[in-house]
Amino acid sequence: MSKRDYYEVLGVSKGATGKELKKAYRKLAMKHHPDRNPGDSDAEQKFKEASEAYEVLSDPDKRALYDQFGHEGLRGAGAGGPGAGFDSMDDIFSQFGDIFGDMFGFGGQRRRGGPRRGADMRYDLELSFEEAAFGTSKKLTIPRHVECETCDGSGAKPGTSPTTCATCKGRGQVHHRQGFFTLSSTCPHCKGSGEQISDPCTECGGKGKTRVDREVEVQVPAGVDSGTRLRLRQEGESGSRGAPPGDLYVFLQVQPSETYERDGADLHLRKEISFVQAALGCEIEVPTLEDDAEETITVEPGTQHGDTKVLKNEGIAKIQGSGRGNLTVHFDVKIPTKLSKKQRELLEAFAEDADIPFKSGGFFKKMKEKLSG
Ligand SMILES: [Zn+2]
Ligand SMILES: [Zn+2]
Repeated sequence: MSKRDYYEVLGVSKGATGKELKKAYRKLAMKHHPDRNPGDSDAEQKFKEASEAYEVLSDPDKRALYDQFGHEGLRGAGAGGPGAGFDSMDDIFSQFGDIFGDMFGFGGQRRRGGPRRGADMRYDLELSFEEAAFGTSKKLTIPRHVECETCDGSGAKPGTSPTTCATCKGRGQVHHRQGFFTLSSTCPHCKGSGEQISDPCTECGGKGKTRVDREVEVQVPAGVDSGTRLRLRQEGESGSRGAPPGDLYVFLQVQPSETYERDGADLHLRKEISFVQAALGCEIEVPTLEDDAEETITVEPGTQHGDTKVLKNEGIAKIQGSGRGNLTVHFDVKIPTKLSKKQRELLEAFAEDADIPFKSGGFFKKMKEKLSG
């Protein structure tokens, strides 16, 4: 996928000032912000694209590189370089949160006592080989701590309200002097919230949250593999005071197949053939992914041990891009360990005809010679 010009993305001229860049970015971020466009992946893409453009152009060093060499100049320049982009919204919020924060206070801006976006959650999901190959839909039970309805999440008994923490005076931080230094740490009394609850809500015990189990349906696309991470927007922990929930990340673990070895979208299969089949050629049946149907393939005369036959587009769906991988059949040529008398005679005749030196006589013959000799 080719990247758009960063100036074009933000809709500014090459000579745009820092102020103009910020203004353009804010406008775009506001329009495409994920909280305003839930579930809209197009908006998310635009939001990320604008964030990446702004990340580069707002940094004088990166901007100079970009002006001189384009996207290519930023390769290897670290986060924000082409291809790096932003992996998660959290990255964007943690970097540009102040831009959104002074605008309308949403986004991941974490102000003490203010709205706080819920935490992201991780769910490990194991899939069978077939589920991963064809895609599936799974129902997950996700525990979420939601705002307590009784106290509206404040943790204080209805009719009362939290008061300023006496230990830190609402700052959420306490200071210790150590020699010349002053160290600050999170207030141990209010755990950083800056508030204390003298009359806790009986429903949630003052925590402000209660646990509910929710069922979340996740659509697993065909072609996923171990290590694939699916992101379900706003299915994580709930936020506080009206802030949006975090995201749910589903980490996939795919079980191996008993038939195939998998390498991304490509599949590999070992198939034993007799040395006679290898020499003369034959037709054999191999299993395919489709409904476990067998497919007939031709083994060419003169096939060597380790030779392969590639069945194009019979692998697994490509998760990125389109089409499918290949199925490669690897031939294992088997040599018999026991020969009948007839088979031995035939092979000896073959060897004599092909002028191949061989050891005549079998095990029993040798034994006899030894015993009599
Ligand atoms: Zn409560
Ligand atoms: Zn405190």
